[in-house]
Amino acid sequence: MSSPRTERVESPDASTIFAYHDLTPPTTADVYRARGTLGEYLPRTPLVRSDWLSEAYDAEIYLKREDVLPTGSFKIRGITTVLANVDPEFRERGVITASTGNYGRALAKAAQWFDTEAIVAVPEGTGRNRIDGIERLGGRVEVVGDDYDDSANWAAEEAEQEGYRYVHPGNERGVIAGTGTAGLEIADELPEVDVVIGPIGAGSIGAGYSLSVGAVTDATVIGVQAAAVDAAYRAWQTGKLTPQAEANTFADGIAARVPYALPMGVMRERMDEMYTVSEEAIVEAITRLFREERILMEGACAPPFAILETLREEIEGRTVAIPVTGRNLPGEKLADVLSVE
Ligand SMILES: *Cc1c(COP(=O)(O)O)cnc(C)c1O
Repeated sequence: MSSPRTERVESPDASTIFAYHDLTPPTTADVYRARGTLGEYLPRTPLVRSDWLSEAYDAEIYLKREDVLPTGSFKIRGITTVLANVDPEFRERGVITASTGNYGRALAKAAQWFDTEAIVAVPEGTGRNRIDGIERLGGRVEVVGDDYDDSANWAAEEAEQEGYRYVHPGNERGVIAGTGTAGLEIADELPEVDVVIGPIGAGSIGAGYSLSVGAVTDATVIGVQAAAVDAAYRAWQTGKLTPQAEANTFADGIAARVPYALPMGVMRERMDEMYTVSEEAIVEAITRLFREERILMEGACAPPFAILETLREEIEGRTVAIPVTGRNLPGEKLADVLSVE
């Protein structure tokens, strides 16, 4: 799964892409290879039955605790897989990405393991604690651009000029394969799983879980996006990779304006169902999981929990797995969560 710096590629969608990306679609075999790689760096995450949700929906509902991973989200799986496989030439120069938080933190952490420099472009207005979180791990933060896409454009250009490896949020075989390793862990421990429900932004969970637990068990894989930012949902329905103009949602980690070709190709081929949820349902889901289980999830993590009521009949009597994808709820959003009755 190396990314040889040989042929230039054009972006297959409306995102900025580093000209030497390997856009070969990932496979289930790639997920198994990524598992071999990640064993050295990351623990297997716990899969824990939620007694409260199981009773509330008359189902066997398990939570895959990706929030306990280093940097507090599953993103470390994909980034580490990418860095383990990049050409050594790039490790000498450095790796670069754009991020509003989790991706940048994960890049900085993984860059320490591989002894390379991490550069993270963040948009203006990014919270101080998020910048600190990246810098504490030795990452270099550049505040550029009005929004995520501006930062991403800058990062890809900087990569071209300076010889860094630009890490794309979706069009990366390693990111999809690495993320999918969580799905293999679910399949190992819970082979009887009937339904897996994950949140969708760039689509690494949707694609990665479809290629892993979706491929090696009989499980139905369901993706859920915020209705306020539903570019991926529309692309999944229509096959057209049409960006949307703005991306405002409480779930900032899945505010993806642009549908990405690589994960979308896998999701259209293999993911079984897709839904969207309202902003209110997202906030309420965070509040309820905190009140009942004392698990604090961030917005991007909440859509699968927010869709459960809609799926009540479909999941009744069945075994369900839901990843808790991240715990990095910004401090200023905590008050919104705690004020819900
Ligand atoms: C990035 C992220 C997601 C969505 O993953 P995509 O690959 O963008 O679809 C979900 N939850 C959390 C906590 C995230 O950081």
